[in-house]
Amino acid sequence: MNGHRQPTLMPLIVERDIKTRLAQLVGEIAEEASGQQLVVVIGLLKGSFMFLADMARLFYIHSIPLAIDFMMVSSYGAGTESSGRVEMTRDITTSIENQWTLLVDDILDTGRTMEFAEHHLRQKRPSKLKTCVLLDKPDRRVVPFHADYVGFTIPDEFVVGYGLDHNGRYRELPNLSVLSDKP
Ligand code: 5GP
Ligand code: MG
Repeated sequence: MNGHRQPTLMPLIVERDIKTRLAQLVGEIAEEASGQQLVVVIGLLKGSFMFLADMARLFYIHSIPLAIDFMMVSSYGAGTESSGRVEMTRDITTSIENQWTLLVDDILDTGRTMEFAEHHLRQKRPSKLKTCVLLDKPDRRVVPFHADYVGFTIPDEFVVGYGLDHNGRYRELPNLSVLSDKP
C-alpha cells in the first residue's frame, strides 16, 4: 500500500458463500470424526477466530463435542510480506495426547505457519491430526504443505475481512475482500 492513495476493498467471497462452503466443509470433517467422543479444535490466532467460531456452531449441529484452544504464532511483521521466520508466542494449554485434533488457520500462504504449527502439535502425540484452512493460495507456497481441508483456493492477492487483517484492521468485516491501493 502506498501512502498517497486510499486502499480499496474489492469483495472476493461474500458472507452467504462463506456460510454455504463452511456447512459443506464441516459436514465432511464431521463425517470423518464421527464416533469420536471429543474433537480438539485448535485455532491459530488471531486470523482464525471468526472462521473457528462459525465452524464450532456447525460442529454442534452435527453433535460433535469440541474442546477449543488457541495457539499464536507469528510470521508476518506489520506489512504484507512474510519475514520467513515463524515463532510461537502462545502454546495451547489443552492436552491433545491421544485426541482427535483439528488445526485451523485462516489462510495458507507460504505454508511456513501451518508447517511449524503442525510439527509442534504432532510432538504432543494426538491420535489424529488434521489440518483445515479457510483459504489457500497455492501459488505462494515456499514449503510443501498440503491442508486436509480447504475452504477456497484463491489467486495470489492480499485478502482481508472475516478474521483476516491488514495492520490490525478489517477483521470484523463479514465478507472476504481483496485489499488493493489501485484506484
Ligand atoms: P504463511 O506462513 O503460510 O506464509 O502465512 C500464513 C499467515 O500469513 C496467515 O496466518 C496470515 O496471518 C498471513 N497471511 C498470508 N496471506 C495473507 C493475506 O492474503 N491476508 C492476510 N490478512 N493475511 C495473510
Ligand atoms: Mg495468521
